[in-house]
Amino acid sequence: MSDDGPSPFSLGLNEDVQAVQEWVHEFARDVIRPAGQEWDEREETPWPILQEAAKIGLYSLDFFAGQWMEPSGLGIPVAFEELFWGDGGIGLSLVGSGLAAVSVAATGLPEQIGEWIPQMFGTEDDIKLGAFCASEPDAGSDVGSIRTRAAYDEAKDEWVINGTKTWATNGGIANVHVIVASVDPELGTRGQANFIVPPGTPGLSQGQKFKKHGIRASHTAEVILDNVRVPGSCLVGGKEKLDERLARVREGKRAAGQAALRTFEASRPTVGAMAVGIARAAYEYARDYAREREQFGKKIGDFQAIAFKLADMKTQIDASRLLVWRAAWMGRNGKEFSSAEGSMAKLHAGETAVRVTEDAIQILGGNGYTREYPVERWHRDSKIFTIFEGTSEIQRLVIGRTITGLPVR
Ligand SMILES: Cc1cc2nc3c(=O)[nH]c(=O)nc-3n(C[C@H](O)[C@H](O)[C@H](O)COP(=O)(O)OP(=O)(O)OC[C@H]3O[C@@H](n4cnc5c(N)ncnc54)[C@H](O)[C@@H]3O)c2cc1C
Repeated sequence: MSDDGPSPFSLGLNEDVQAVQEWVHEFARDVIRPAGQEWDEREETPWPILQEAAKIGLYSLDFFAGQWMEPSGLGIPVAFEELFWGDGGIGLSLVGSGLAAVSVAATGLPEQIGEWIPQMFGTEDDIKLGAFCASEPDAGSDVGSIRTRAAYDEAKDEWVINGTKTWATNGGIANVHVIVASVDPELGTRGQANFIVPPGTPGLSQGQKFKKHGIRASHTAEVILDNVRVPGSCLVGGKEKLDERLARVREGKRAAGQAALRTFEASRPTVGAMAVGIARAAYEYARDYAREREQFGKKIGDFQAIAFKLADMKTQIDASRLLVWRAAWMGRNGKEFSSAEGSMAKLHAGETAVRVTEDAIQILGGNGYTREYPVERWHRDSKIFTIFEGTSEIQRLVIGRTITGLPVR
């Protein structure tokens, strides 16, 4: 191979992504990390932090859209790793609107994207949130059994939505809610559609707000939909496309299930990146502690038991990040997820974060178990990554089905 030819492979971040990494890291270090404990205790959305992030353009549609479109695909995972390195709960408050935005961006009409996504972020002086509401009390992993119904009122060109959503990040406090509802329950997931509920729409209210184990600075609540009427234009993707899709499914033809699967595979690495951020925070903290803390006249890092733990932590984190970057690059560059690489990234990173944060507690001993030190909070925060956006079991199902081609149950 000649020396002056193009490099056939590189894991180097381009200059733009490096600049974003440094910029977000600075904010995470100076603003997010110092506020983590307070907002965990308060169990409230950290509005002042969102405001500071909005002031510098970090909490903004421009930033999210810019990174989403970044050609290498690494803009979002790199930024999210830094935010969650700062703090998981605050991090989730900062990126929670993204899920709703992506659900509209993925299949919405250009005019829907233009009208509603900016309203999920607001402006520097008037911050807004978005919420994506799919889960229900009886439909978590089993999204096909969603009971929330959307019925079309042809005379008024309106959709009437009834049901109860649960576990919605920003549910009830968001400006714009995106609701997954069934238009034809017999068709399971293929009979579902996403609906935008504009701000102030009568009939939408917040139910119970959950008190959680971790990521407590992120608001999670039930959303009640009682005869919520939205204009026909709020059906994401439009009625024509929905009717076509339903007709195809009723005729027994395959619907565009592949497209939905692709969207999931492309978004899962971004969730993996959040888990990598928390894991890295805990690893660095434990490593520095092990260099200082002395027992039996030695630094505890001198004990092989501790150094090996740190070695495993670092190895697993780096492996997770590589899986995340690979899947993010594949998603952005139109590669086929032939082995469910997005699910792999989320699975590995989520489970790594739980293990690494637990190991960090172990390395800090009694201190690790107290709220005087952050690692117990990071451990609590990490656990969500084996549960939401598809549990670890569901990721394994998806990977298992993809690599075997069998309908693994
Ligand atoms: C803090 C938080 C924030 C969330 N934010 C949102 C949000 O913004 N929007 C939203 O729509 N949802 C959100 N969720 C919901 C989340 O996505 C669900 O909790 C998740 O999908 C799991 O569903 P479930 O809780 O009903 O568990 P279940 O589906 O009841 O699963 C229980 C257990 O059974 C296992 N299991 C289920 N089915 C199978 C199977 N086929 N094979 C093997 N094992 C299986 C699961 O892996 C799990 O271990 C959030 C949840 C939390 C806790």
